[in-house]
Amino acid sequence: MKRFRTLWRRESEWRATERMRELEAANRELQEFAYSVSHDLRAPLRSISGFTEIIRRRYHGELSGEALHYFENILVAAGRMERLIEDLLRYARLGRRALIIKTVPLAKVIEEARERLSAKLAATRGTIVAPSDLPSVSGDPTLLGAIFLNVLDNALTYHRPGVPPEVLVTCQVRGGRCTVVVSDNGIGIPEEHHQKIFRVFQRLHTQEDYPGTGIGLAMVEKCVKALGGRVWVESRVGEGSRFFIELPGAV
Ligand code: ADP
Repeated sequence: MKRFRTLWRRESEWRATERMRELEAANRELQEFAYSVSHDLRAPLRSISGFTEIIRRRYHGELSGEALHYFENILVAAGRMERLIEDLLRYARLGRRALIIKTVPLAKVIEEARERLSAKLAATRGTIVAPSDLPSVSGDPTLLGAIFLNVLDNALTYHRPGVPPEVLVTCQVRGGRCTVVVSDNGIGIPEEHHQKIFRVFQRLHTQEDYPGTGIGLAMVEKCVKALGGRVWVESRVGEGSRFFIELPGAV
């Protein structure tokens, strides 16, 4: 009986490993597919916006105001689709490259994100405050950069109308893992959407209210998972949000 049970356990383990391998292969195939489709969509899209632009410029005097308005709409839609494709490509590329693990000071990662967000900081009169003694983590600098750039960018974007965004970065190290918390004083997120926002293309607002592609947090989750960490949010509508990024390898 005991021998039978051992055999049965081995068989189940083998099946689980096989299934995992199959799922990983299917996932890789899907990522490759997403990458090549997005890549191939770029050229025809550029033709659409390029030729629309030419017609608009060359025949400007002959076109009615209504026709010019429609051409304008085509250009806006094509521009939006281009941004979506760019973001999808960036998302797909993250899964294609091998990790490069280094010791990365988190203060440097935050500083670089702050520099890249300087125009938005000036436009919103926002602030990002981070302690000077943030730890270093053992991780991939590109993925870490993408994580914090996206989370900080959102913290500046989803601010309450007329209220400058105040973003605070804090960090706790416990048992070799560090949890970075990015808090904002923005519009907040209803509880029923706390998981959904990490999925690709999931947005809670219209382009008119807050422009975006809905890929940022999916990218954050993908990067955090690739580094062996977790990400989650705590938030109440009107009371701001706190994004928790737990990473292994605190140095
Ligand atoms: P995008 O910002 O391009 O829409 P994201 O994937 O980064 O895409 O975010 C998904 C959605 O989550 C956003 O559209 C927004 O509704 C919500 N969100 C993200 N970060 C915040 C935040 N700090 N405060 C409020 N809402 C947020």
